[in-house]
Amino acid sequence: MKLSNILLLGSSLVFNIVAADVAANKNPEVNVEVETPPEGLSWEEWHMQHEHQMKEYDPESFFALHDIKKKGYFDDDDILALYGLNRGEVVGKGDGMGEHDSSELIDEENSKRVVTFIKKLLDVDDDSRIAKEEYLAFAKKGHKFPDLGVGVGHHADFELEYELHHWNKFHRDTDPDVKNVHKEDIEHELLHHFHEIEHEEKVQRGASKGTVITDDELESRIDIKNIPKKFKNGFF
Ligand SMILES: [Zn+2]
Ligand SMILES: [Zn+2]
Ligand SMILES: [Zn+2]
Repeated sequence: MKLSNILLLGSSLVFNIVAADVAANKNPEVNVEVETPPEGLSWEEWHMQHEHQMKEYDPESFFALHDIKKKGYFDDDDILALYGLNRGEVVGKGDGMGEHDSSELIDEENSKRVVTFIKKLLDVDDDSRIAKEEYLAFAKKGHKFPDLGVGVGHHADFELEYELHHWNKFHRDTDPDVKNVHKEDIEHELLHHFHEIEHEEKVQRGASKGTVITDDELESRIDIKNIPKKFKNGFF
């Protein structure tokens, strides 16, 4: 392993240790990501495969995809978006599936650290932007964007993510009426349902304080009878 790669790995490790330290005593409403790249893949390759369905890509296309306003450089917002840290909320696992919980906020302090860290790594001339040339030089040396413990970098909200990670593949062209129901469809439907209830509750709570309901009460409001038949498919 080249020295520069060891340094890169080392600094990413330090980043994770610092982040984990901060995570130890944080707000329960803050989302915590636990997924890490599969064995043998860098974070960048994992992101490209998982979020863009691209097994093969070149640095030019990676840059074009993530330079959102086609400015010719990455700014702080592009870095946040790249790592999925500009989402207003993280519902479930963030990929359109998962269980609903109350930790939906992005950790802003950690996001700032991600931006600072990435700029230290890539913004060689220190002008607070990562010019396309800076990224291409970094990529040419074989470097990839590192895993920073914030997940795969889902770019969109949980509806679009469900489409991206499930619908487009299994339903869009071949089964738009969902004759074949998958675990993912049920999970997504329930997630959607719980999330809506939670937010209705929040609005009501804001309007008339005192109507706080417990998680159990909330769950009891999900009536299995109300789940559309097409989603049951022997699961209940
Ligand atoms: Zn992306
Ligand atoms: Zn995604
Ligand atoms: Zn499905």
